[in-house]
Amino acid sequence: MILKRSGLTAPAFRSLTLPDSIGRLLRSATYLFAQVFDVMLPRVCMLCGDPLPGPGALCRDCYGRFETIPGPVCTCCGAVFPSPQGSDHLCGECIARPAHYDCARSAGVYAGELRRAIQQFKFRRGSMLAGPLAEFAANLTGLGRNGRYDALVPVPLHTQRLRSRGYNQSLLLAQGLGRLWSVPVERDFLLRISWRVPQASLSRQQRRRAVAGAFACRDRRHAGARLLLVDDVFTSGATVNECARTLKRCGAAAVDVLTVARTLKDHPECQLLSA
Ligand SMILES: [Zn+2]
Ligand SMILES: [Zn+2]
Repeated sequence: MILKRSGLTAPAFRSLTLPDSIGRLLRSATYLFAQVFDVMLPRVCMLCGDPLPGPGALCRDCYGRFETIPGPVCTCCGAVFPSPQGSDHLCGECIARPAHYDCARSAGVYAGELRRAIQQFKFRRGSMLAGPLAEFAANLTGLGRNGRYDALVPVPLHTQRLRSRGYNQSLLLAQGLGRLWSVPVERDFLLRISWRVPQASLSRQQRRRAVAGAFACRDRRHAGARLLLVDDVFTSGATVNECARTLKRCGAAAVDVLTVARTLKDHPECQLLSA
């Protein structure tokens, strides 16, 4: 679905009115305030509280404890196979119901220190963690090397959710990656036009249905382009799959997905998140 500038019908764009402008202004002021404080206060690791020798948000010990994704994995969705033997190949799910994205890769397991870091980043205004998490994702997945992408597209938040959280964590990650790879970030190209409170108990198929039609592109500016969708955690993959479907319907030639972490089915610490 494409939203035409002249006839925006989605609820999110019905009125870019005063409250929106004030909200944006307040968010910018809060962000600036946080940045100033950040420079003034002594730097400590955001996970363990140990002093840091220089700029940064994490100490080397905490960063080193991030659990990386073991292999082999599915060549499409990146699911980890239970046996460590053999090479990467397509999983049964991707054979039965091919995904709309071409390839999804995650850097680490959503558990332990990485889970704590993402939760701080997402729910406790830990925007300083965007840089280290983006670096971790870039180093471990190797997806953005050799100028592979024309643009990075963060998974968008619905306006309502953006208001309550104050920032889109996927946009901060995409901006971190964009700086590392010198690739442009499309912050308002893909839009979330509907949002329902997700239910953790839904099956993968139910989650796919729940997000159907939830996204729209502003226009066809990326027809024929190779795009990388960026998000924090891959759970069922329903959200990124629907984003990829939308981007391809708007002409994208290829859409890969990069997430910092993913839940593993048999991992005791991995719980289902919102789709
Ligand atoms: Zn630490
Ligand atoms: Zn798969």
